[in-house]
Amino acid sequence: MSSSPLSRRQLLAAIATAKTFAACRSSPSEILPSGGVTSASPSGPAVPAERNVARIVPAVPTTEGAGVHLRRSLGGRALSILDPFLLLDEIHSTRREEFAPGFPEHPHRGFETVTYVIDGAMEHGDSLGNRGLLGPGAAQWMTAGRGIVHSEMPRSEKVMWGFQLWVNLAAREKMKAPRYQDIRPENIPEVSVAGAKTRVVAGEIAGVRGPVDGIAIAPRFFDVTLGKGQALEHPLPRAHNAFVYVIEGDARVGATRTRAASGDLAVLGPGEVALVSAEAGARFLLLSGEPLGEPVARRGPFVMSTEAELDQAIRDYRSGRLVSG
Ligand code: MN
Repeated sequence: MSSSPLSRRQLLAAIATAKTFAACRSSPSEILPSGGVTSASPSGPAVPAERNVARIVPAVPTTEGAGVHLRRSLGGRALSILDPFLLLDEIHSTRREEFAPGFPEHPHRGFETVTYVIDGAMEHGDSLGNRGLLGPGAAQWMTAGRGIVHSEMPRSEKVMWGFQLWVNLAAREKMKAPRYQDIRPENIPEVSVAGAKTRVVAGEIAGVRGPVDGIAIAPRFFDVTLGKGQALEHPLPRAHNAFVYVIEGDARVGATRTRAASGDLAVLGPGEVALVSAEAGARFLLLSGEPLGEPVARRGPFVMSTEAELDQAIRDYRSGRLVSG
């Protein structure tokens, strides 16, 4: 809750400086291919290059599983992949018939599914005997590896609100043993920096580390809430692909202050710093990860490197070998 007036002033000054620099750049094409160089004023110190919006992808309504209504931003027709991220779905409904059908037993191989619950509850159970209930604020980072068969069923009466993110695994990791990281809400630290309230699921912010560990793409997964006039400025590795997904409200992204509304996924271009502000308030996910740069072959619940590996995954599932190894 501690919002230091001084640090906030400094932050706003930094944003103003960033805007000046953005205005100095002659065209977007000069910003995008620059690969995150540091802009330096002839007379002043180096200024970190803010990651501006490369594109906005609005989430599109679709149905998945046994008839769950959701909206998909990443993984749809508009943006099939943002390496290493393969999919982002948001379920948000107060109509039971739109979420209760859930995602009955189905297989996965070759990647990771990340579930993050805002409200409601999701029960999972799998072929290895794992079982659990994710309530509001809980997260699960599930590495399918060589294979699991699981179900994901909403277990709330009034509302289901949450996300599923798919993260690719490098070819050398696709057949590793499955692993779960089930994270209770109280184990996700919340930090406040210049008023920006951030739940740290993965990565580090202001010296506070999130609980997810041992993931090769070194993910950053932040759930950020900004009040009126607040901003978050956070360094991200230059090599990472990154995006902002707006959960609620209106966010302004990058030095260009490009508007992103609820359901918009803003792909961040090259640079060193994610900068998001809000005029009236906003809540958003900020995600980044190291791209794998490998071929991707995907079919339904399987994500491999080649078509032959997909065929093998389907054969293994049918013969029961997906799980038994
Ligand atoms: Mn699943």
